Amino acid sequence: MKLIETLNSLVGDEKYSEIVKIIKKKYPKFYNEEFLEDVFDWIEKSGVKSIKFENLTDAMGIAHYNRLILDEKTSTMGSLCFFLYVLLHETSHYYQFKKHGEDIEYDIFNNDDTQEIVKNLLNVEIAADRLALMKLRQLKTKYNLNCNIPFSVYKNIKDSGGSSLISYIETVRKEIKNGNIKNNIELVDFVYNLVS
Ligand SMILES: [Zn+2]
Repeated sequence: MKLIETLNSLVGDEKYSEIVKIIKKKYPKFYNEEFLEDVFDWIEKSGVKSIKFENLTDAMGIAHYNRLILDEKTSTMGSLCFFLYVLLHETSHYYQFKKHGEDIEYDIFNNDDTQEIVKNLLNVEIAADRLALMKLRQLKTKYNLNCNIPFSVYKNIKDSGGSSLISYIETVRKEIKNGNIKNNIELVDFVYNLVS
């Protein structure tokens, strides 16, 4: 009885209700209080204010300043591990904001040296992947997740020289130079508009 009440209260919690619904529908084996609370506690400690599913193009998620956004397709395109990887990666950015401030992304782009931006951007993303994959490995062991831990997307980009990021970086830098992006809020909104 208590278990059902707690699960119902998680479904009723607006922040997590979509995730609870996805787990219940697609991964019923993991629809249990202990697993969900473990994941949500970790998200809660990062300072995420809300979580929304939206239709994104060319992005799996965005750590927007007022909500963590996941692409709707993340819940159907891969395994539970893949879904959690994207969720935990975006959550990791909020841990970074807590530690380094919300301007880290803007500070990186506000630089004349493109290669330097590639390097710093990849460092932030790889650190987020490292933290996310660490939590995911822990969840996999503890709850016997029957899926493979994905390979770090950004480690792949780094290994291939980071060239796939250059046109994106140049687009953002141009907007900063033109005065259209003056702070992190404007940067996040601009990136959001690119992919939504
Ligand atoms: Zn990221």
